[in-house]
Amino acid sequence: MAWFYPSRPASGRTELQTPPTIGAGIRIRNTAFYRPYSGGNPIAASDQSSHMKSVAIIGAGITGLTAAFYLKRAGVPVAVYEAGGRAGGVIQSVRQNGFLAEYGPNTILETSPKIGQLIRDAGLESRKLAPDPHAEARYVVRYGRPIAMPGSPPGFFTTPLFTARAKLAVLREPFLKPRRDGVEESIAQFVVRRFNQEFLDHAIDALVAGIYAGDPHKLSLPHAFPKLKALEDNYGSMIKGQIFGARDRKKSGEVAKDRAPKFSFDEGLQVLTDTLAAQLGDSLKLNTPVTALARTTTGWRVTAAGGAAEYGAVIYCGTAYRLAELKIENGTPLDPSPFAEISYPPVASVVLGFRREDVAHPCGGFGMLIPKIEGFKILGTIFSSALFPDRAPAGHLALTSYIGGARYPELALLPPEQIVELTLADLRRLLGVKGNPVFTHTKTWPKAIPQYNVGYGKYRQLLSDLETAAPGLFFAGCYRDGVSLGDSIVSGVNIAERVGKSG
Ligand SMILES: Cc1cc2nc3c(=O)[nH]c(=O)nc-3n(C[C@H](O)[C@H](O)[C@H](O)COP(=O)(O)OP(=O)(O)OC[C@H]3O[C@@H](n4cnc5c(N)ncnc54)[C@H](O)[C@@H]3O)c2cc1C
Repeated sequence: MAWFYPSRPASGRTELQTPPTIGAGIRIRNTAFYRPYSGGNPIAASDQSSHMKSVAIIGAGITGLTAAFYLKRAGVPVAVYEAGGRAGGVIQSVRQNGFLAEYGPNTILETSPKIGQLIRDAGLESRKLAPDPHAEARYVVRYGRPIAMPGSPPGFFTTPLFTARAKLAVLREPFLKPRRDGVEESIAQFVVRRFNQEFLDHAIDALVAGIYAGDPHKLSLPHAFPKLKALEDNYGSMIKGQIFGARDRKKSGEVAKDRAPKFSFDEGLQVLTDTLAAQLGDSLKLNTPVTALARTTTGWRVTAAGGAAEYGAVIYCGTAYRLAELKIENGTPLDPSPFAEISYPPVASVVLGFRREDVAHPCGGFGMLIPKIEGFKILGTIFSSALFPDRAPAGHLALTSYIGGARYPELALLPPEQIVELTLADLRRLLGVKGNPVFTHTKTWPKAIPQYNVGYGKYRQLLSDLETAAPGLFFAGCYRDGVSLGDSIVSGVNIAERVGKSG
């Protein structure tokens, strides 16, 4: 879940152009929409007369917090509604007994300059941590053991990870005709067409599990992997695109995901969401699920647990399945129920701590990915304590594994003891773990990551249609703009800019 997050979207050469200035550069037009908030708690102030020209943000995950941060900096009054009892969404870092466990994401890939800008604007440069440069090795399981992925073209031709037939398929790829009939393929169809079945079964299947916890036969090439699609569209070939695309990326400031720097913070990713949330003060309303939105003559009435209040605009940064439950009135009711169809398979993260001498494998790299064909239960494991300092006490290792996803959804929903047992059984075989863990923590996300399956365009179109039908209502977040943390940050920055301009 931290391997190779694709950033969005790059479906044409023009989209690789320099992105507009954002963040501190948001320009807010001086309109009634942004007249200063008259103060007080918008929820307590539930009487109809208290129309506040401000922005309501629904959801305090990284997308909503980023949007709120930049709008607030630009002088726009914001109120952030969060259904849960804490800010951060799926980002949660917990320190216990000397171990630092990430329950959700582990790293951010810096694929856009907007990400580094947010870290600087939030004053977090000094707490940012780059991974240990020695922890670059990534393993993929084949023949029942982790094998290091080749780090260079010569390494690719000598690796035992792929047979000679798969290596030949790579050499042949630049000479294959690109597909230009507009048919939406799954990532599996694309890989088999341009490479071969072995590549799908032994590499892409594992990678897809590491990004989406998803099924490669269902995930849409243009929606889930827009950059791969763009390589074929723009350069006629993946390999040619990798080589020649470097020039375009350099121009745009974008970084290819395989070369993008990863980072976290000294006390985990929650440092970022805690910092953004702290700047909101009492404009962050926890335990306050929004249930209804109604257009008024001058803005939007937001109904949440505890009351209603009116704002000039609303940004929905929640999840697709909760969007489906919202009542949205724009004179006549709008129907968000189709968003309930979006699949969010459950995932459990399992953080286990071991004494160093109880693990035979050096666990010196980033981690290992496991294709389904290898027959293990876990989707992969991050070697957390090799990646960043202070993730485990001296003489110990911290390993973060994932189980469930579209591959085995039922496993993520098992009781924690069984999840730990299954994970341990796999780690014993794969990494030579002996003895029992000295630290265990599991966290189940019953609805973890939205799956951008074939046909996902329908939902994106619906979001655009809703925005057109309901001016002043905006949508952002991982169900719309890409599932990685970096995508969510860029989504939050961009939506703040759009809302600013729309005033
Ligand atoms: C287990 C796991 C591992 C991951 N690993 C990585 C990784 O290593 N690297 C990476 O780049 N990405 C990773 N991701 C993906 C990344 O973490 C997410 O895509 C990103 O954090 C999503 O942020 P968000 O703000 O869009 O949504 P969320 O974090 O889901 O936040 C949405 C918030 O909205 C709230 N909400 C919903 N409806 C309402 C409502 N009606 N009223 C009020 N509040 C509401 C929810 O309670 C929630 O807090 C991982 C995800 C998971 C689950």
